[in-house]
Amino acid sequence: MSTLKEFNFKNQKALIRVDFNVPLDEHLKVTDDTRIQSAKKTILKVLEDGGSCILMSHLGRPKANEPEFSLKNIVSTLEDILGVSVLFSTNCVGTETVQMAKELRPGQVLLLENLRYHSEEKEGSVSFAKALSELGDIYINDAFGTAHRAHASTSVIAQFFPLKKCFGFLLEQEIISIDKVMTSGEKPVLAILGGAKVSSKITIIENILDKVDHLIIGGGMSFTFIKAQGGSIGDSICEDDKMELALEILKSAKEKSVQVHLPVDVLAADDFSNSANTQVVDIASIPTNWQGLDCGPKTKAIFHDVVQQCKTILWNGPLGVFELDTFSTGTKALGDSIAEATKNGAFSLVGGGDSVAAVKQFGFENKVSYVSTGGGAMLESLEGKTLPGIAAINE
Ligand code: AMP
Repeated sequence: MSTLKEFNFKNQKALIRVDFNVPLDEHLKVTDDTRIQSAKKTILKVLEDGGSCILMSHLGRPKANEPEFSLKNIVSTLEDILGVSVLFSTNCVGTETVQMAKELRPGQVLLLENLRYHSEEKEGSVSFAKALSELGDIYINDAFGTAHRAHASTSVIAQFFPLKKCFGFLLEQEIISIDKVMTSGEKPVLAILGGAKVSSKITIIENILDKVDHLIIGGGMSFTFIKAQGGSIGDSICEDDKMELALEILKSAKEKSVQVHLPVDVLAADDFSNSANTQVVDIASIPTNWQGLDCGPKTKAIFHDVVQQCKTILWNGPLGVFELDTFSTGTKALGDSIAEATKNGAFSLVGGGDSVAAVKQFGFENKVSYVSTGGGAMLESLEGKTLPGIAAINE
């Protein structure tokens, strides 16, 4: 793995693909700067070596060059985080950008305008990638959030830096964390999969059965398994067309000696709202017109015990409708359990969309070993896919 530590950036211009795809409010102010914070270490390493940084990213999904997708909106936040002033180029290619890059001095940072203002970025255009590549001396990919995309700036560009390309600290950390769970983690290894649908996690489950000793299936997706086994799930969310598959997964887990843990009780509600009437019931005996929206106390205790037994833990997907306070306790309890196991020496990785949101909502970020910054990229890694952004550096 080619990493940042192998390079000295003195008098070098580092062309860094970062993921500054951050949320903005209606005044175009950054509301969550996690992704910018995450790139800081890589940028500072280059500057401290005596080099300069040319930062490139996308922001949102612009159709034309709408100003609300301009990366100019993040400049002041970036300056605050880095503690240095940041030059901004109103394009990411073209004569003026080339000139700005050329004039960049050691210690300076230049941020390029949104790559996706050019359709060639997503198309993976070789000529566009070449034009970008001419701005810098060394290419660094530090954008895990787009590592699963074969875009011009994330993978195509790497061919123009055959010997001068590497991962940034963030991407390196993401790769190491996933590797710990998928191949080199201390046993027993546990994967916790929750969330709404089995269908969105099938490939992950199939891939992960070869890697783990324990599998917890929670949240909305557990009802497909319970119904497939003959349980009554009332009005709980269920994918009837995936019931056959659910049984196959359970059979395959047994053959592979993976212990599967499903919820045994639920907090059922008569409405999908915070003010619904609720009752704790056996998961296989949910009354008609009631739906399971969180796990029950017995389940919390069982899951807690499983988590404490394991030395490597992956968590993807909430155990209930955590966005509603009334149904957030199962997800929060799981977070507590993982935090405790981590404190006792387990490695814990939280990744992929809503579980990251849950971890942030409940303030667990610093109590788990690693919180992934990439949603889709994380899920594709768990599916066992080779990510183009990673392959391009390793080639
Ligand atoms: P996913 O994107 O598949 O990880 O699903 C995340 C969503 O699953 C969250 O918005 C949760 O509210 C939802 N969810 C979790 N448990 C349940 C449940 N028992 N019933 C309905 N939705 C659920």
